[in-house]
Amino acid sequence: MLTSEAKEAIRKIIDTKEPVVVISHINPDGDAIGSSAALAIFLQKLNVPVTVIIPNEVPDFLKWLPGYDMVLTYRSRKSDCRKKIAGAGALFMLDFNDKDRVGDVINEIQKSDAFRILIDHHERPEFEADILVSEPWRGSAGEMIYLLMKDLDHLDLMDSDIATCLYVAIMTDTGNFRYGSSYEEIFNIVGNLVNKGIDKDQIYSNVYDSYSEDRMKLLGYCMSEKMVVMNGLSTAYISITQEELDRFNHKVGDTEGFVNIPFSIKGIKVTALFIEKKNHVKISLRSKGSFSVDRLASEYFSGGGHINAAGGESELNLDETINKFETIITDSRHEIS
Ligand code: 5GP
Ligand code: MN
Repeated sequence: MLTSEAKEAIRKIIDTKEPVVVISHINPDGDAIGSSAALAIFLQKLNVPVTVIIPNEVPDFLKWLPGYDMVLTYRSRKSDCRKKIAGAGALFMLDFNDKDRVGDVINEIQKSDAFRILIDHHERPEFEADILVSEPWRGSAGEMIYLLMKDLDHLDLMDSDIATCLYVAIMTDTGNFRYGSSYEEIFNIVGNLVNKGIDKDQIYSNVYDSYSEDRMKLLGYCMSEKMVVMNGLSTAYISITQEELDRFNHKVGDTEGFVNIPFSIKGIKVTALFIEKKNHVKISLRSKGSFSVDRLASEYFSGGGHINAAGGESELNLDETINKFETIITDSRHEIS
């Protein structure tokens, strides 16, 4: 995965022992935290001082991960984060392809003259970096951290903590091996992680069996009251207003996974989730097959991602955003079916 130039650059960072900051994306998911924590533990084992910086709050279902103690949240620890980035010799940026994905952390990154390495699996990376490792066909950034360790001849440092973080990254970003994982290498990697003594079933339970009662009630409400199936267009979407989120005591991470559930309906190939925020609408998009929601998100909703999983934003209000989406889907009906 790493070119010889990339290997040399990373070896140099490790040898100089200058402080490193690992940065991942806003609204962090299992891949963002799993890949970052794994890289941080790895660097720590090599005696490199390391901090992980995440733009906003980490959902509870990821806080048990090994290495979480190295994570700082920019929104609540601005001045600490600023100092860490200013003092870093290198910045590793994981699991994002665009400066919009790191919120205000971008201001600190732009002020720093640290060496920048971007490791990502999204389409069309547009972030300026000294070393760019972009492999959009891979299911997760976590897998790329495994390969980084392998390419640096350091799989000897793989332990059950790093393996647990990487397993969470790979498991969550492939929807439990439903998508983004139809190649042999990923299973060889997972096999090696399992060999390190991880508790695969306990990991699943920590991630997926940790919801609050409120979250389950919000899910039930969304399915029965808020899901719209666009007949004849193989599309279903869910929208949630701020008032509804408040009513169900919404906490960060509660709507994680909602966008995938309508796929259980026979024939559904495109799904969307619209969440009303203060000044915009956050959009999650998913597809099955060749219809690219990455293209839909980048063309119409200032976003992007992968062919089958993408996201974006809309400055229109919730109803207008939904109308716009319905028009796009109606116009795209030949590509979807
Ligand atoms: P999710 O729907 O789970 O938030 O995100 C799905 C995928 O789309 C992820 O790979 C994520 O990185 C990407 N994504 C989500 N929101 C945005 C966005 O606003 N801009 C861009 N460029 N990518 C996004
Ligand atoms: Mn990812």
